Amino acid sequence: MALRSAIPAIGFPAIFSGRAAELLALQRQYDESQFWPPDKMRSAQFAQLSLLIEHCARTVPFYADRLRRAGLAPGKRLTEAAWRRLPILTRADVGQLGEKLYASSIPAGFGPTAVAASGGSSGVPVRVRKTALDNVLWESINIREELWHRDRPEGDLVRLRGIPDDLTPEQMAAARSKDGLILPDWGHPANLFWKTGRLGLLSPKLPLAQQVAFIRKMQPAYLYTFPSYLRLIISHIRDKREKVGAMRAVFTASEQVSDELREDCLKVFGCKIVENYTSGETGYIALQCPETTNLHVQSEIALVEILNADGGACRPGEIGRVVLTPLHNFAMPLLRYEIGDEAEVAQPCSCGRGLLALKRVVGRADDYFLLANGERRRADISHYRLSGIPAIREFRLVQRSFTQIVLQIVASRALTGDELSIVENVVAKASGGLFETVIEFVPDLDRTAAGKLRAFKCEVVG
Ligand SMILES: [Zn+2]
Repeated sequence: MALRSAIPAIGFPAIFSGRAAELLALQRQYDESQFWPPDKMRSAQFAQLSLLIEHCARTVPFYADRLRRAGLAPGKRLTEAAWRRLPILTRADVGQLGEKLYASSIPAGFGPTAVAASGGSSGVPVRVRKTALDNVLWESINIREELWHRDRPEGDLVRLRGIPDDLTPEQMAAARSKDGLILPDWGHPANLFWKTGRLGLLSPKLPLAQQVAFIRKMQPAYLYTFPSYLRLIISHIRDKREKVGAMRAVFTASEQVSDELREDCLKVFGCKIVENYTSGETGYIALQCPETTNLHVQSEIALVEILNADGGACRPGEIGRVVLTPLHNFAMPLLRYEIGDEAEVAQPCSCGRGLLALKRVVGRADDYFLLANGERRRADISHYRLSGIPAIREFRLVQRSFTQIVLQIVASRALTGDELSIVENVVAKASGGLFETVIEFVPDLDRTAAGKLRAFKCEVVG
């Protein structure tokens, strides 16, 4: 019996209490709402949004003013047109306004507040105040992700990411040693529901041979890592012709997953990659569909808009700015917050879920070259062509000056003449004739504090 009953003497049916019961009650509602037609979801979101707007008008003077100008009077029926009149809130706005976005009071039941800082990978870090209720909702979507993708909770899980900071010094030392740290279960919140398998933690800064040896030792059902680390592990396994067992799924976070990486993972580990889309300041935004590689927006907790240049909603196949409104942050409401990413809207998903489907999140909207005349040009690099060269383990495009861009490459061996000409083509195309191009081979690439690799870096200050 994989379910963990709160009363050990009762195995069936499992008894749940406290937080587990609270999270399960939400799952029960999500089970239905995920299949609602989009109109029905929209009205449920607007009903919640009306409550949030009323709260904002009463407790945040900045919004009271903004709502009035947009004609969004509290108590008046909220229409699509009125909502669209509300100006977008940028990251820079949130940075500048700071505590001016705090509500002067919070209704009962939300619990204590705390401030969360975003990863800052976009170069514009923001700090957002949240309540304990945000954790409940975060965990509820985390459990939904487990239910959608984890078919064997009793299997072991290996985590190759930054070392969590809630470990004891001894545990941290173990995670940084080649033997790794092995904990009895996956931890909160999964261990509230399931008798899970073990959790193996290993620092991804250890040599690849030690990481692969750890995976072979644990024979996990699941791996949790960044796409850039997964690419390195797969190249190592291929280069050394190592034998590794099959897994049920590889879970990744924070970076984009390419089709090539999905194929490589299927070949080497015999399993799919499961990705998600989250942000430190707003929580879960989208989860990968259980049946396709689309990302389903988590409409129960956030109103997500994908907007074209004119501010209208993107249609399937179009790429637009991601603008979102967390529906339950009453401590520091973010109304129509532009997070700095772009996403492509997918066709309605074949799985039948009504939740808006995204085909992909397209890097960061602020991945732009800065030109001497102040203009910005989208920095587009053909990831696919570079990923097609197995010796290339990591790469990053850097704008060094107004006249030069550099493609930095970490390679496992010297490139052949043919490979080099592909690389030269890719960087020439990215430059669009605007820059002198340089290819630089480097031993490694620095990462953000969260351990995320960014494929573009602009060193020019505008
Ligand atoms: Zn789907």
